[in-house]
Amino acid sequence: MPRPIQARISHAALAHNLSVARRHAGGAFVWAVIKANAYGHGIERGVASFAAADGLAMLDLNEAVRCREAGWVKSILLLEGIFEARDLEIVERYGLLMTVHCAQQIDLLQTHALQRPVDVYLKMNSGMNRLGFKPAAYRNAWERLRALRHVGTITLMTHFADADVAGGTDAARTLFAQTTEGLPGPRALANSAAVLGVPEAIGDAVRPGIMLYGSSPFADRTAASLDLQPGMTLVSEIIGTQDLLARDAVGYGSTFRAEKPMRIGIVACGYADGYPRHCATGTPIAVAGARTRTIGRVSMDMLAVDLTDLPQAGIGSSVELWGAQIPIDEVARAAGTIGYELMCAVAPRVPMLSVD
Ligand SMILES: *Cc1c(COP(=O)(O)O)cnc(C)c1O
Repeated sequence: MPRPIQARISHAALAHNLSVARRHAGGAFVWAVIKANAYGHGIERGVASFAAADGLAMLDLNEAVRCREAGWVKSILLLEGIFEARDLEIVERYGLLMTVHCAQQIDLLQTHALQRPVDVYLKMNSGMNRLGFKPAAYRNAWERLRALRHVGTITLMTHFADADVAGGTDAARTLFAQTTEGLPGPRALANSAAVLGVPEAIGDAVRPGIMLYGSSPFADRTAASLDLQPGMTLVSEIIGTQDLLARDAVGYGSTFRAEKPMRIGIVACGYADGYPRHCATGTPIAVAGARTRTIGRVSMDMLAVDLTDLPQAGIGSSVELWGAQIPIDEVARAAGTIGYELMCAVAPRVPMLSVD
């Protein structure tokens, strides 16, 4: 018997969340962002669940190839473009679109002629200062690309640093509009937070990621309130119980001490499974369908939960670490992080299976 831990993926939930993105996107082209192994859910599951998307976006060329091998015939966009000249062969062979975010990528396109035109997303740095051309260099980059015979459609693109807070995209959108004024081509700006919260940023193509997996991009709005359903449910079981007396300690460092007699359960899930060690006592967790709390430090392979008010729970009882009952965003908050990190960090040793 393997350990009882499992990550269960709901294709129906993922497909539903895509339909929510589509609803907000109006008629815009919808890229389903499936980078980082579809935010930990598996590339092939992304391909199957997001069949209704117009395209798939990721940044690893191997993931792009896997999409084609899984039968995806629609568009594929490389969000960071190419990393070296020979990547252009893959772009060509698999018919990929590529982001162009720096002059070196234009140099590569200039020195390596392609047999057929490649469509590009020309990225502007609108203040995040990660990837992209500064506004002052953007039009020149566009002119250089336009002059290349093997460059097809040039989509004008930027990425927001602050789409999750009210007014957070105002300056970036103004800068983008000024910089691209008069340039032909589609506009693509919105990540999940902008898809859900900034209708003015929808443009011609959108790039939702996190919302597709059922996590909220906003600190102050729950996924459920946005009509998003959890794509992943991380489950395990109670594999041991302990009765504690007042003053008994639990776990490494004895960070938790019982104030009164209580009963705890030991869950087969730890930080080596991807459950954050930063989750302190009190992190929500469900046992046999009832909400309770974690107790003490998370170990490598186990963590403890409070069963004092759950007398019927014992060895073999089901545990939900996150999913339909315990929103992943609540666990992320308890760990001082975001849902993205948790879903991406589920360890390879955790069996993942599709449940619908
Ligand atoms: C990751 C990413 C997205 C999706 O962002 P979410 O916040 O997950 O919706 C969109 N565009 C780019 C360029 C990205 O890197």
